[in-house]
Amino acid sequence: MPAVLHPVDPRHPDPGVIGLAATMLRHGKLVAFPTETVYGLGANALDPDAVAAIYAAKGRPAWNPVIAHVPDVAAARALARSWPASAARLAAAFWPGPLTLVVPKAAQVPDVATAGLDAVALRVPDHPVALALLRAAGVPVAAPSANRFTQISPTTARHVQASLGDRIDCILDGGPCAVGIESTVVDCTGSDVVILRPGMITADDLARALHGTGIAVRIAVRTVSHGAGPEAGGPAPRSPGMADRHYAPQGDVWLFDPTQQDEVAAALQARAATGAGTGADTGTIRALLRTATLPLPAGSVVPMPDDPAAYARRLYAALHDADADGAVLIVIERPPDEPRWSGVRDRLSRASR
Ligand code: AMP
Ligand code: MG
Repeated sequence: MPAVLHPVDPRHPDPGVIGLAATMLRHGKLVAFPTETVYGLGANALDPDAVAAIYAAKGRPAWNPVIAHVPDVAAARALARSWPASAARLAAAFWPGPLTLVVPKAAQVPDVATAGLDAVALRVPDHPVALALLRAAGVPVAAPSANRFTQISPTTARHVQASLGDRIDCILDGGPCAVGIESTVVDCTGSDVVILRPGMITADDLARALHGTGIAVRIAVRTVSHGAGPEAGGPAPRSPGMADRHYAPQGDVWLFDPTQQDEVAAALQARAATGAGTGADTGTIRALLRTATLPLPAGSVVPMPDDPAAYARRLYAALHDADADGAVLIVIERPPDEPRWSGVRDRLSRASR
């Protein structure tokens, strides 16, 4: 049975619809809901069978743990064996918001939710529909992005429907997501804070919030490639967000720096000369450009914003549109190598592998 899609006004979430979705969650069902980052695929985080159903619906490998969403700090602390000073500071500074904190796991969190790790990832989302749902459910809600594994995360209810519509029970449609890429994930279990996945909250933001505590911020080295997880004989990833190819469209992705504009233009012209990318059989080209110009028809070019927040908000929809149009090649101009662009640059580099 296809998922039931319920429109919910984010300014006034209808208690009837929220109550219905909350009841479904308490009964072990899967409910997709909007957050400020991307749409999540939710299940009761304390119910191992419900969490297992998320993995089945997404086709997500069992070594890839999920984030538990809670309505407030008190509910987060109930899932943590201890609450590190770094977590206390960062939660006070950024929750509700696009920051996930990895802390020592309490016994009540089932192993399936953390992929057997002794730490649990927690977040209070900044979205009125998500918060209303979490409060009404009264249980923590495990929610990875509501897409099939390795596909692009959804930033609208339509994206969820296209990817998972026949595999889940309910979708709450609260409109497009305001942040647009997944949360920053930080490991708070050690003496330093370690960024496991960059996002719109940057290392500088974290360092500012930790100022005066003596706690340093480090960025994890990415060690695991897609397909080299435990099932391929590789080590369990410290964090699955470090899997290289994790946010990818169907078509090939070429990333280029603005200084390489002429080379890319020449490569596109050579491609056109051989007939590739010109007809319906060879498919469409999309170019996501900020400053560069390329020899492509206007309909192929998607102008992208100058500002990182606006860019992030727009990015996944642009990639979903390219997928939906059957683009075989997506050419993307890389934004500058600056800290405020690190979340966007991370997702672009993973889309291109
Ligand atoms: P997704 O839900 O697909 O956006 O991805 C969940 C992200 O949370 C992963 O990419 C990890 O970075 C992170 N994560 C979840 N649980 C843990 C954990 N116990 N330890 C470390 N990272 C985690
Ligand atoms: Mg995901």
